[in-house]
Amino acid sequence: MNILEFTKQFPTETSCKEHFRAQRKTEGVKCKHCSSERHYWLRAKWQWRCIECDFRTTLKSGSIMEGSKVSVRTWYLAMAFMTFSKKSISASEYNVS
Ligand SMILES: [Zn+2]
Repeated sequence: MNILEFTKQFPTETSCKEHFRAQRKTEGVKCKHCSSERHYWLRAKWQWRCIECDFRTTLKSGSIMEGSKVSVRTWYLAMAFMTFSKKSISASEYNVS
């Protein structure tokens, strides 16, 4: 993926949040309070609610973004840029050897 493809796939904060939510769902969301993995999704709040104990887990909670005020899209951009620059570094290394 290059930067143009990135901006096409993630044009808004919501598109990034949706993607991140799907990602976390795939990995499984674990309640910090009772360790249950069964949750309701509170769409309006962007939070999971534990079925067992009602504990709320935010989208960023338990991830690298926890406690960060920065938007999910900014994180995505930062991670994308790291990936892009790694690629260009390995490409130049390849040329040297
Ligand atoms: Zn719980």
